[in-house]
Amino acid sequence: MAEVIYTKSKTGRRGVKFPASGVAEKDLSKFIAENLLNKAKIKLPELTELDVMRYFTNLSQKNFSIDNVFYPLGSCTMKYNPKINEYTAGLDGFTNIHPEQNEEFAQGALELMYNLQEQLKEITGMDAISLQPAAGAHGEFAGMLIVKKYFEKIGEKRTKVIIPDSAHGTNPATAKMCGFDTVEIKSNSDGLVDVEELKRVLDNETAAIMMTNPNTLGLFEENILEFSKLVHEAGALLYYDGANLNAIMGITKPRIMGFDIVHLNLHKTFSTPHGGGGPGAGPIGVTENLADFLPVPVVGFNGEKYFLNYDLKDTIGKVKAYYGNFGILVRAYTYILMMGGKGLRQVSEDAVLNANYLKEKLKNTYKLPYDKICMHEFVLSGDLQKEKGVNTMGIAKRLMDSNIHPPTVYFPLIVHEAMMIEPTETESKETLDNFIEVMKEINREIDEDPELVLERPVKTPVSRVDETLAARQPNLRFCE
Ligand SMILES: *Cc1c(COP(=O)(O)O)cnc(C)c1O
Repeated sequence: MAEVIYTKSKTGRRGVKFPASGVAEKDLSKFIAENLLNKAKIKLPELTELDVMRYFTNLSQKNFSIDNVFYPLGSCTMKYNPKINEYTAGLDGFTNIHPEQNEEFAQGALELMYNLQEQLKEITGMDAISLQPAAGAHGEFAGMLIVKKYFEKIGEKRTKVIIPDSAHGTNPATAKMCGFDTVEIKSNSDGLVDVEELKRVLDNETAAIMMTNPNTLGLFEENILEFSKLVHEAGALLYYDGANLNAIMGITKPRIMGFDIVHLNLHKTFSTPHGGGGPGAGPIGVTENLADFLPVPVVGFNGEKYFLNYDLKDTIGKVKAYYGNFGILVRAYTYILMMGGKGLRQVSEDAVLNANYLKEKLKNTYKLPYDKICMHEFVLSGDLQKEKGVNTMGIAKRLMDSNIHPPTVYFPLIVHEAMMIEPTETESKETLDNFIEVMKEINREIDEDPELVLERPVKTPVSRVDETLAARQPNLRFCE
């Protein structure tokens, strides 16, 4: 069990020693209001530099991260984060800038944001972009507020948002938060949205349909053009959840598919370390007729200067302090420039190739509910293994003992015992082959002794925990 740093403290230990000061000491408490003074002694651990370094280095090694293990976490696109991103995001010009700084003196930062908006327009095909939202779910929120305001403006009362049953949970949650009623439609036996189902629920009370393409089963919605035609004929808007953009860059664009509003997860598709809740960026893009509804500011360019534009007449307002999650924007911009247009297309092609390779190699060992060519991820079911005594959670836990982060499990909800596997494009054939071998080995172990598998993991800092208790009442073992 990890010790907290306080338990290592020894009174008087120091990391650095300063020479005696040549300046006379002054009691600053005279200059601070009595009620703002801290009278208690601050309890800080006392350690040497070596103690501190070893403590944090060892702690970081207890973690599972993309920098030390294969991380095929479906839907989350845990792709490699090139270290040059960290270099550019750490440049003095970016880190020392202040958000209240005059635009005149922030032209470089504004130019970067403007260029990123232009790149994202090109990649998605949309007419205007706002970089404001801080995550995918936040982009959805901004997008749904636009839907709401748009119908208010044209004087139509539309209360329903249609969402496929394969959707990410944030989709219905967002629609509800924005005051819409959600209507779920079932996927067909091919794992795709069913045209007849859509027709059945689509009416003049429908404000929007939220879709992910490729969907969360990793399958391309082949009937997308028919959907967008139907949705537009009904006067509704089509919302694109862009979390799976990693599969289609440079090959197709949400705009071509007929989408009116899109969000992107820069931290997924455009490589930023994410997990544990952050950080992220979820820019949204819209068609020309919705451009005035975007959250402000957007960055403009008048031929001479870059400027923050707050002047959009139907704007939903601000959704984030200042200008979005700037550090993430720098990383995404760096990544896009580094890859270039052709490189981004290759990213998608390789991601799709890697996923199909894994799928074909694993489908005789694990059940593959939708056996067709997938995009950048695919979903297996642990049903066969569950019958033998080990469910998907057991397989996920066992994987960690082989130094592999588990795939996304029990999502999407429409697959029993789901394992959603997304290898990403940067993984080598050797890494993929190792994963295949480990997955097959786990299946053999289940055949031999399921009880033993259920005792795993044994090599991690903690073994099996009570999931509910760990989430609801985490024991962080902070000093008393
Ligand atoms: C990750 C994800 C989201 C939510 O995005 P966040 O950036 O985590 O808020 C929405 N939809 C899908 C399909 C996702 O994979």
